[in-house]
Amino acid sequence: MDLQRTRDMHLYVAERMIDSTELLTKMDQAIGDGDHGLAMAKGFEAIALAIGGKDFEDLAGLFKTVGMTMLTSAGGASGAIYGTFYQGASKKLTGRDFFDAEALSILLVEGLGAVQKRGKAEVGQKTMVDALHPAAEASLAHAGQPLAEMMPKVAEAARLGMESTKEMVAAMGRARYLGQRAVGHPDPGAVSTHLILKFMTGFIQQEDG
Ligand code: ADP
Ligand code: MG
Repeated sequence: MDLQRTRDMHLYVAERMIDSTELLTKMDQAIGDGDHGLAMAKGFEAIALAIGGKDFEDLAGLFKTVGMTMLTSAGGASGAIYGTFYQGASKKLTGRDFFDAEALSILLVEGLGAVQKRGKAEVGQKTMVDALHPAAEASLAHAGQPLAEMMPKVAEAARLGMESTKEMVAAMGRARYLGQRAVGHPDPGAVSTHLILKFMTGFIQQEDG
């Protein structure tokens, strides 16, 4: 997928994330402060404005803009964390002008690394890391496959990771004050991570078919 289509994929994801505001608000109302839907909507509205119709030099330029916009526009813990994710991944994508399976894997592995370095969350602590980590692992496990085959497997791994957060007691974020009361509810950030990867899959499959 060339740079323009990769940008268009992010516009497609942004539109659908904005449409998911209510769902993410409900998730965060259950075990947080209810602002995750709004944070994602604000972040993705700003991203759509920042990248729409723009040309980028390479994937690094695109992801740097996405990350910076997330950081400055979304607010909340998730704005900082998603900003870190995209910015952290961008460095290793310098000079690439094609989003393929390898670029997806770099995005996930490097982005996850940056998120964990900054936020210190480990797997099992009921955060978006529980969706991101299996997604990154799936991309490595299926290395060598075309993007259209890898992407749905990555999204499915994120979905299972998101599902697994339902059983967890939170050790990070606001939900950690709830103890057992958070059990039964998925982590809102893991839900948004799964959605982003699901919408990326939707775009790629539409391209492919
Ligand atoms: P806030 O917690 O400031 O209200 P949001 O509601 O937008 O921010 O985002 C909450 C999400 O942020 C959580 O569901 C969790 O997935 C994620 N999160 C919080 N702290 C961390 C962390 N240290 N590492 C990774 N993700 C985190
Ligand atoms: Mg919140």
